[in-house]
Amino acid sequence: MKTIKLIFLGPPGAGKGTQAVNLAVQWETLHISSGDMLRESIKNKEPLGLKAKNYMLKGELVPDNIVISMVMEKISSNTNNKGFVLDGFPRTSNQAKKLDTVMADEGIILDAVVYFETSEETVLRRLSGRRVCRNCGANYHLTNMLPKIAGVCDKCKGPLYHREDDKPEAIRKRLEVYKNKTTPLLSYYKKSGLLKTINGDLEVQEAFEEIKNKVTGAWCSGAWCSGFLKDDTC
Ligand code: AMP
Repeated sequence: MKTIKLIFLGPPGAGKGTQAVNLAVQWETLHISSGDMLRESIKNKEPLGLKAKNYMLKGELVPDNIVISMVMEKISSNTNNKGFVLDGFPRTSNQAKKLDTVMADEGIILDAVVYFETSEETVLRRLSGRRVCRNCGANYHLTNMLPKIAGVCDKCKGPLYHREDDKPEAIRKRLEVYKNKTTPLLSYYKKSGLLKTINGDLEVQEAFEEIKNKVTGAWCSGAWCSGFLKDDTC
């Protein structure tokens, strides 16, 4: 069976992480989130996390040399050739070029880059109301994705918190950084014919359907088909 390899591109708060988690479950792919990996590293007080922490708190990008090696290691360790969804990486032209080189060296072929086109209003609403489990990283929202018990994660009972970089000043900085450093990647991937745009303003389930339709074709008997995953369940 063909495995799928995707990049999710879009501003913070576009829903990339939520959709990547959903797809990772349905396709049994790896969800590779550079932000989650950095937060885990900070939680474990690792040298890499300590170097990254101040950049993250201010909403700035962590230097390429730290992030690139961390993500490349993860991709290269995917020895059973599972599919993957890259969420939050690449974020700079330098990261995108490095990723291309490593994938070419390892014979990895990217299927699509999914761009979550999202309004600033949606981003601000989602980020200011987002709450995250300190233990397992699951995401909630104060208006439309409440946990069963206030402040407590449904999945692992860990405490929920408001990310420091989801507060107004850091959000402003993250949006500025996104515009300056990350949006140039849209034309980079458009040129290579990989870019597929979805509406990031949609609610979770609708956005999920749009990704399925645009990226993989129809959903058939519980398996991805339309020539994408050619297996005998279609
Ligand atoms: P995220 O969880 O994807 O919103 O990322 C949170 C923060 O982690 C970002 O604001 C950056 O400080 C840092 N970060 C995550 N991914 C990258 C990346 N690819 N390059 C540089 N910094 C990153």
